[in-house]
Amino acid sequence: MATEVLMPKLGLTMTEGTIEEWKIKEGQAVKKGDILFSVATDKLTSEIEADTDGVLLKILLAEGEAGPCKSVIAYIGADGEAVPDGGALATAPTEAQTAPAEEKTPAGGPKSVIVIGGGPGGYVAAIRAAQLGAKVTVIEKEFLGGTCLNIGCIPTKCLLHSAELLEEIRNQGKEIGVETSGVSVNFTQVMAHKNAISARLTSGVAGLLRMNKITKVDGTAAFTGPKILEVTKADGTKESMTADAIIVAAGSVNAVPPIPGVKENPCCIDSTGALSLEKIPESMVIIGGGVIGIELACAYAAFGTKITVVEARDFILPMLDGDITAVGVAHMKKMGIAFCLECSVQSIEESPAGARVVCTDKTGDTVSFEAEKVLVAVGRRANTDALNLDAAGLRNDRGRILVNEKMETNVPGVYAIGDCVFGRAQLAHAASAMGEAAAENIMGLDAVYDEKTNPACVYMMPEAASVGLTEEKCREKGIDYKVGKFPMAANGKALIINGGEGLVKIIADAKYGEVLGMHIIGPRATDLICEGALAIRLEATTEELITTIHSHPTVTETMREAALHLEGRAIHTGNK
Ligand SMILES: Cc1cc2nc3c(=O)[nH]c(=O)nc-3n(C[C@H](O)[C@H](O)[C@H](O)COP(=O)(O)OP(=O)(O)OC[C@H]3O[C@@H](n4cnc5c(N)ncnc54)[C@H](O)[C@@H]3O)c2cc1C
Repeated sequence: MATEVLMPKLGLTMTEGTIEEWKIKEGQAVKKGDILFSVATDKLTSEIEADTDGVLLKILLAEGEAGPCKSVIAYIGADGEAVPDGGALATAPTEAQTAPAEEKTPAGGPKSVIVIGGGPGGYVAAIRAAQLGAKVTVIEKEFLGGTCLNIGCIPTKCLLHSAELLEEIRNQGKEIGVETSGVSVNFTQVMAHKNAISARLTSGVAGLLRMNKITKVDGTAAFTGPKILEVTKADGTKESMTADAIIVAAGSVNAVPPIPGVKENPCCIDSTGALSLEKIPESMVIIGGGVIGIELACAYAAFGTKITVVEARDFILPMLDGDITAVGVAHMKKMGIAFCLECSVQSIEESPAGARVVCTDKTGDTVSFEAEKVLVAVGRRANTDALNLDAAGLRNDRGRILVNEKMETNVPGVYAIGDCVFGRAQLAHAASAMGEAAAENIMGLDAVYDEKTNPACVYMMPEAASVGLTEEKCREKGIDYKVGKFPMAANGKALIINGGEGLVKIIADAKYGEVLGMHIIGPRATDLICEGALAIRLEATTEELITTIHSHPTVTETMREAALHLEGRAIHTGNK
């Protein structure tokens, strides 16, 4: 049977394409991989390859004509083979036909949704489902706001803000004319400030649930069947609950590595412990050079703790582009943080200081580090042990639930989002985006979670952020790319804020200049990265960044300058 050639969908925003040229004419032979035609969208012209061998039997859409994405525009088959309907062009579905069905209140009342977990995944999913007309219940066993607001994103950033202010006054104060005497850390107040911010934000979430008429149940949920839960409430009573749809948003917990001594030694703490210390430790060994370990390293180093980071790999912060990490590591070394890479921890022993971390270094020698506290920051695992996933029949990989791009699990009507799902970023904003997608799909819309625009931020000193492809990834994927860089030192605002430490790096595809990745280290990096995410979402080109006027003096000017540099047109730096 003849193979259909479809109008490709080359991007999220593309709805139709115009045939610019058929490179193979009707009746000519074509091989898989040959350029078959070129198609123009409102943004780009792309050459499309044939994905099968044969003869181009019939062209349905002539050069210069436009057709909707995924409509049949030609047929390839054996020489002389007939084509369906004599080769008539199928009429494209109208927008009304493709639009999602409007949500109607079902006969038995509004659709019911239960959300397990009130973290940034769960509470956002609950609000979105309620907005779309669902009757929503959130079951939360500990605290609204989840890890993020109580023991994660927000508390760490509170500590880091105190630490950054301290560093700025120490390092920059004199130079910028802000002289203080006796700057010291009131650690009790640092923690009190952190607790107050968390409390304010979590009570805000409670208010939002009330505003959206969402029922909150304090209790622990566990599956007893595919869509049946047993909820053990705070007062010990149990209730069986079910709903039209269930969203599992149970989050994650700190992973404990099987290192002898970790569980037994009271000096070993995890990130939650590091966020509730009563005094600043004199020394701390941090096991793990990931985001959580590095952020807490920066905070405590600024507070005066002697920090040693022990990491098994030969690099830290794997999510960042190598050029960006290098700037961060140089700064952290200046802060006095020591790094021991390619060093694997064998055991934790007692020592007069508190604990001795015994490791094997890259030469195979045994080395050890003593410290008052040992922060174990080797990653997070899904918090699904108590959920009884097997009773629901939910497919999972070591507790992390398998989902598709619509956040559907293998069990109809059960969705999973956030840190407890497999193969997605464990970040608060990612959890929220997944939550919105799940709620919309439950309520009859058609939403997907696309990680392409998901920024990864590291609130170290200086802060860093990344979105899209790194150079390393482009090389791995065989993409022909160009790089533009701009140093913070050449930007007035960055120079004022932090002395101009850092850089911006843009990666774009070599042919069309479409932005593929953006990587920043320097002041406001974690805010600036959204310009990169938006550029990727809109499939913007470097030309479009360049022709967008950026305000002055701001650090955002560095993004435009990096785009100019990529095109060999940088104004405020050389063009090599
Ligand atoms: C120290 C630290 C710093 C971090 N910093 C950042 C950052 O700067 N930026 C960022 O994006 N991410 C950060 N993260 C990650 C971020 O906190 C998580 O990605 C995010 O909280 C995940 O949201 P979630 O809703 O999936 O899960 P969670 O926030 O973990 O929420 C899950 C909720 O479900 C509840 N629950 C679990 N099981 C049950 C059950 N059986 N019944 C009822 N309730 C249940 C839990 O009590 C919890 O409240 C950080 C994490 C840590 C630990």
